[in-house]
Amino acid sequence: MTLTPEEKTIILDSIRDIPDFPKPGIVFKDITTLLNNPKALSTLMDHLTERYLGYDLDYIAGIDARGFIFGSILADRLGVGFVPVRKKGKLPYTTVAEKYSLEYGFDEVEIHIDAFGENGCCSTGERSKVLLMDDLIATGGTAKAAANLIDKVGAHCVEACFIMELGFLNGREGIEAPVYSVLEID
Ligand code: AMP
Repeated sequence: MTLTPEEKTIILDSIRDIPDFPKPGIVFKDITTLLNNPKALSTLMDHLTERYLGYDLDYIAGIDARGFIFGSILADRLGVGFVPVRKKGKLPYTTVAEKYSLEYGFDEVEIHIDAFGENGCCSTGERSKVLLMDDLIATGGTAKAAANLIDKVGAHCVEACFIMELGFLNGREGIEAPVYSVLEID
């Protein structure tokens, strides 16, 4: 269940830092170098599979766009459905939307109204159990909006999972569901 220090190092070392991207002062965490490293990717996905096997999940909701990659792999490994949380205007069917603040202005995420079953319930009539997934939590604004969407359509966000957490921004404090991050970045 817990990653060994060696396994953590394998994953951490596979992520590339890009200073001053997309603007000065930001260190962008580039996960393309994790994705094209089979050892690091399987170490990460083995760990997440082991962690979430016992959660009896119904769905994984992945945040646009890097959450789609990790969320889809994990959903397939666990044998559960995958739901994309998309930026506004991309989903073709009836959607539910949630706005969130950025440094300047706001952004908006959407999901299909029936993404987790009718009224957010699975075939037994119980609220669908959903794991929210993204590559990184910074201020937590995106994840909070996504978790609100899961709630809005009647499903239950059982945990929010991130590969990396910028702990100094305290993003997890705004999220009602438990938060799990594989790597804490200072
Ligand atoms: P936030 O809403 O502030 O928690 O930002 C999280 C979203 O922005 C996630 O979808 C991340 O992929 C992306 N993001 C924020 N900061 C970074 C960073 N330093 N490196 C890579 N992605 C980031």
